Amino acid sequence: MNIVQIVSEAVPFCKTGGLADVAGSLPLALASEGHDVSIILPYYTAKISSKKHKIKDAGQKIKVAIGNREVEGELFTCKLARNVNAYLIKQDQFFGRPELYQTPEGDYPDNAERFIFFTRAALYVASTIQPDIIHCHDWQTALAPVYLKSIYKNLKAFAGTKTLLTIHNLGYQGLFSHNDMQLTGLGWEYFTFDKLEFYGKLNFLKGGIAFADGISTVSRKYAEEILTQEYGCGLENALAFRKNVLTGIVNGIDYAEWNPSLDANLTAKFSAKDIKGKSANKEAVQKAYKLPVKANVPLIGIISRLTSQKGFDLLETAMPELMKQDIQIVILGTGEKKYHEMLLRVAKEYPSKLGVRVAFDNTLAHQIEAGSDMFLMPSRYEPCGLNQLISLKYGTLPIVRATGGLDDTIQNKVNGFKFSEYSAAAMLACIGEALDAFKKPDQWKKLMQTAFACDFSWGASAKAYVELYKKMMKS
Ligand code: ADP
Repeated sequence: MNIVQIVSEAVPFCKTGGLADVAGSLPLALASEGHDVSIILPYYTAKISSKKHKIKDAGQKIKVAIGNREVEGELFTCKLARNVNAYLIKQDQFFGRPELYQTPEGDYPDNAERFIFFTRAALYVASTIQPDIIHCHDWQTALAPVYLKSIYKNLKAFAGTKTLLTIHNLGYQGLFSHNDMQLTGLGWEYFTFDKLEFYGKLNFLKGGIAFADGISTVSRKYAEEILTQEYGCGLENALAFRKNVLTGIVNGIDYAEWNPSLDANLTAKFSAKDIKGKSANKEAVQKAYKLPVKANVPLIGIISRLTSQKGFDLLETAMPELMKQDIQIVILGTGEKKYHEMLLRVAKEYPSKLGVRVAFDNTLAHQIEAGSDMFLMPSRYEPCGLNQLISLKYGTLPIVRATGGLDDTIQNKVNGFKFSEYSAAAMLACIGEALDAFKKPDQWKKLMQTAFACDFSWGASAKAYVELYKKMMKS
């Protein structure tokens, strides 16, 4: 199959979250299944080094109509693997900025224009490839299926092309003023409640949901949850209307990067067969966070964006109770200021129990995964979640709320601990069960071995995507 991925961020070029991990790993896994894959993304020239990635100028200009003006971009390319090509679209006014989507002051005000330009330029590139599948991701590229069913309906290059939209997080929809409709090049007949209109605004993701041939989310449970009012972010009815083409495929992780027996970031390497090295990593993390070095005190890790989605309001409520226990907690994260302040305040009060680092630090993330005994993810919602999968690989038992991908991948008291109700009390009870189990070394070792044995590599997920692509091509 000839597969084109259109995406706004991808490892190894640039990353703000799990989307980039998926967009980096999936093409390689599809290619190893024998498919030709192209990945098209914006060329963020302030973030992406042309030298490091050996990016070449294709010498081609791309002109896109945006409203009543024309914007010109340039095409650059590089090779990621034998049958994986990357296409980067350069347009410095749009993408030569310090960040991808926003600054601390808020979203870039011209995000609609930026991603209309990118999506249309990417479709021009895709038309030269004549793909079987165009796979787009999240709101940034969700207009691609709309264009294929409207402006490009009769384009020969897309005659046999099917579109898949993957929703990585329904909380971000690309919501803009109705005035931006004229930038899309689509007629006002598309601005209706069953297409792109959402309470008087223009909603990119809703357009993708209405027009894609297939829709997927990054776990089975999340695909069910988003049909409910509680998790649907206002799009539950639009999704229910397309329920027959909605599926969930859980993400994998890259075991070349996340593997405790190969991980150069660790103080000591270890594996399921020989876990001795894990204790040296625990000691290193305790030292890094200036906590007392104690082997027998359970160490709980958290690596996360500090937002309410990730359950930090529960943690705030539970802190006084948690700090009474004989435990240590280490937190690495960036995000909302109110959570920075809350965590730093508690850490000041309990310096021997809580360590907080407000930073984005990949090396430290590896060390925490390796050194912790448990990993806490009390998310309000979690489309897939990568950290619980990483934790399993490092024999660190996840304590999770039963939502989205956390529910699909963690079984209570089998490879971790799980609670259902979104409350501090339910979370505390679940942590209590994990602490009890930690006191019984035989039981704990058995749980660790089950965790080590879990396989969430990309192979199985890529096969599921291939099956989905094939099904779409037959329909
Ligand atoms: P989301 O995409 O919702 O932020 P995921 O669990 O899907 O959550 O993916 C987050 C990714 O970003 C993981 O690889 C995680 O380790 C990483 N990450 C998040 N915060 C930090 C941080 N402060 N430092 C280092 N890595 C981080």
